[in-house]
Amino acid sequence: MECDVLIQGGEVIDPSQGLHGVHDVLVTGGRITAVVSRAEGVTAEHTIDARGLLVMPGLIDLHVHVYPHSPFGLDPDPLCPAGGVTTMVDTGTAGSYQFGHFRREVIDRARTQILGLVNLSCMGLSARNLGELLDPRYADPEGVVRTIDEHPGVAVGVKIRAGKHLIGDGEQGWNHFRQAVRAARDSGTWLMVHIGECPMSIPEMLDHLEGGDCITHCFKSGSTRILDENNRVFAAVRAAAERGVIFDVGHGSGSCMWEVAEACIEQGLPPTTISTDLHTANLHGPVYDMPTTMSKFLMLGLSLMDVVNMSTTRPAQVLGLEDELGTLRVGTVADIAVLERREGEFLFEDSYDGLRTGNELLVAAATVRRGEIVPGGGGLRMRRLPGA
Ligand SMILES: [Zn+2]
Repeated sequence: MECDVLIQGGEVIDPSQGLHGVHDVLVTGGRITAVVSRAEGVTAEHTIDARGLLVMPGLIDLHVHVYPHSPFGLDPDPLCPAGGVTTMVDTGTAGSYQFGHFRREVIDRARTQILGLVNLSCMGLSARNLGELLDPRYADPEGVVRTIDEHPGVAVGVKIRAGKHLIGDGEQGWNHFRQAVRAARDSGTWLMVHIGECPMSIPEMLDHLEGGDCITHCFKSGSTRILDENNRVFAAVRAAAERGVIFDVGHGSGSCMWEVAEACIEQGLPPTTISTDLHTANLHGPVYDMPTTMSKFLMLGLSLMDVVNMSTTRPAQVLGLEDELGTLRVGTVADIAVLERREGEFLFEDSYDGLRTGNELLVAAATVRRGEIVPGGGGLRMRRLPGA
């Protein structure tokens, strides 16, 4: 048998199939063609020696900023091999005025799959310290719906950063929040709400959210938390999770606190999805990349299978792309992450200067996107051990 890429002898974890064990993964023509315990008599154009490494579906980061036209925006392609991320969702870096440019100059040219949420503000995040909806004239719900209509399969939802200092307080803030909800409904998509010092409480906000909508920065501290003043998960949050509202990590530089995450996990509310909120100001700490963010949740006690699920299969489901992505099922797109699981003592930092010590760190070792080994990043893609 011949194949393009053979990933040999790795510990395969695929939550979509409940698969966890040592397997070979074969890729041809950009698709996964076999996952078998040991492939015999295979001639491969490229072989990745994955013994001792983890092999999983390509990671899906549900919250990044990769429109470099914005002061927040990173160049997407280096992040793919650096973090094993094959699909990333840009969350509202561009608004209706910029989305066409974002698509032409970035999305269509990138090797990484990029999907976008359209910011309710027509200006998107074009300035760092100017609230994008402090001036209500920037709110453009019709433009959001039109943009989603013009970019099917690429503009996949709506984003609002619902902080008072960004959308205004009181009735102005509420009005913007309602406009964002309406834009999601009118476009037949979903809304991601960035929480943090919001003009409304979480239970008030959740009254307006449906299954498929998403709260990002779910473990944030401050005045808008998913915990009440006694550190109990709000009943409204549990009810929302049950009806399918997504609670997404969106770690970021100001949005993930150990104690909040711990309290939620202890009370039976783990995150639905793990994501980074990578942007220019947190790339070099405290976020770094997706595997580091996943390692933090291993440190907080979640199982490896759960952490991989929240970083692959679950975000694929959120995007409605679970038939193609977040899985190693035969016939699906060959997006694959090979991660090294390092053991030792590692210091992890949350977004509030809290330090914790963990004893495993996941690191991207090799990444396959649409059946091709991605150059750069993880340095183990050319590794060969004796005794193959
Ligand atoms: Zn963000």
